[in-house]
Amino acid sequence: MEQKNTWETYNAKQLGEVDAFARAYMDFLDNGKTERECIDQIVNTLEDAGYRELESLVKDGKKLKAGDKVYSVWMNKSIVFFQIGKEKMENGINILGAHIDSPRLDVKQNPLYEDGGFAYLDTHYYGGVKKYQWVTIPLAIHGVVVKKDGSTVEINVGENEDDPVFFVSDLLIHLAQEQMEKKANKVIEGEALDIIVGNKPLVIDKKKKADKEEKGSDKDAVKKGILDILKKDYDMEEEDFISAELEVVPAGKAREAGFDRSMIFSYGQDDRVCAFSSLKAMLEIGQTARTACCILVDKEEIGSVGATGMQSKFFENAVAEVMNLLGEYSEMNLRRCLSHSCMLSSDVSSAFDPTYAASFDKKNVAYLGGGMVFNKFTGSRGKSGSNDANAEYLGHIRAIFEKEKINFQTAELGKVDLGGGGTIAYILALYGMNVIDSGVAVLNMHAPWEATSKADVYETKRGYVAFLENADLS
Ligand code: MN
Ligand code: MN
Repeated sequence: MEQKNTWETYNAKQLGEVDAFARAYMDFLDNGKTERECIDQIVNTLEDAGYRELESLVKDGKKLKAGDKVYSVWMNKSIVFFQIGKEKMENGINILGAHIDSPRLDVKQNPLYEDGGFAYLDTHYYGGVKKYQWVTIPLAIHGVVVKKDGSTVEINVGENEDDPVFFVSDLLIHLAQEQMEKKANKVIEGEALDIIVGNKPLVIDKKKKADKEEKGSDKDAVKKGILDILKKDYDMEEEDFISAELEVVPAGKAREAGFDRSMIFSYGQDDRVCAFSSLKAMLEIGQTARTACCILVDKEEIGSVGATGMQSKFFENAVAEVMNLLGEYSEMNLRRCLSHSCMLSSDVSSAFDPTYAASFDKKNVAYLGGGMVFNKFTGSRGKSGSNDANAEYLGHIRAIFEKEKINFQTAELGKVDLGGGGTIAYILALYGMNVIDSGVAVLNMHAPWEATSKADVYETKRGYVAFLENADLS
């Protein structure tokens, strides 16, 4: 089967659009390195586009009608939003889903300690990482500290040029003979991923009684120095780490890659690339027949668990609330809506990497620049754990994409006996709806810096628009 390169299909005007879309996407990445930061941006964008908060409409006893736009945020980390269609929701809706959490290092709840003259924050990595990739690169800390009085302090250090950064150390090559013999998953162990946050002791003037009483001995003076700064800058005590969510991520902005500037090189593209293109597609569509819906969730990288993961009922609850405001709610209608819906469960797919060609089946792999990706199934070794989309559904999607001239490719994650990785697809499929895995190809997926093709990102947004406007198997 012939494989087209998406770049070759664009005219000059479209090439301009590809670049503009990439710039907007890179801004989104730079301003959304955590779930919370993504939600902030998404809500601002939606409000500007005329979306209203579902909960406030419920409280005010408002009704909804075709053309209305509503959103619902769950715990500042997940969001679902709807543009109401002309048809009854019980006939099914068209859903885009993606996740906004990415692999990183999370600061533990009792993290701060001093050793050998350094102050450290102890971390626990989140999601699947090659631990050795996280040493000796500049890191930033993003997150929130919630104090006992309920107030929240936002923390974002390491992104501005004059901000300090943080890092994980590694052993110099001259002493690394033993380390270099270890297996890659043992070279850097989880407990070795603590970040260095300081090296300067707090000055304690022992002659001054007040100073001695306030600051104590000079034991752990470097740690005390950090606590002193945290107090001054954030009015934060050591105990406040208990109720903090601090995410350690690669510092720095998304960049264009290649002399031809064809690629985007950035942290967090899994899966913010699909989240951003889904958001943009939702804003681009006109009035649709079926209600258009987009779910952007947290916790995919650790199994879609928790109140803000896809397994949570917050999505189903939001659908019920929307149907209620439309005057269409009943338990039966809700069931019908969910089972008659169509979904693109979007996540990144592993791009073919010629350097590691042996890990892929060249005929069934996504190519960077090959357009939007469909994975009929994911799962590992024998499709285990996969949502395996129905052939009838694939036929329907294929017809839409051909009619709308969207470049797409079909892929598997890797060779049959290697493949792995789940998505949120199987969870929505529990309602009996048609779901297929789709998305954007990524090179070095889950590395601190991942690469995508600008053309694929743009084409995927086009694909989402085509899907929202045309999918209907009811
Ligand atoms: Mn993903
Ligand atoms: Mn992932």
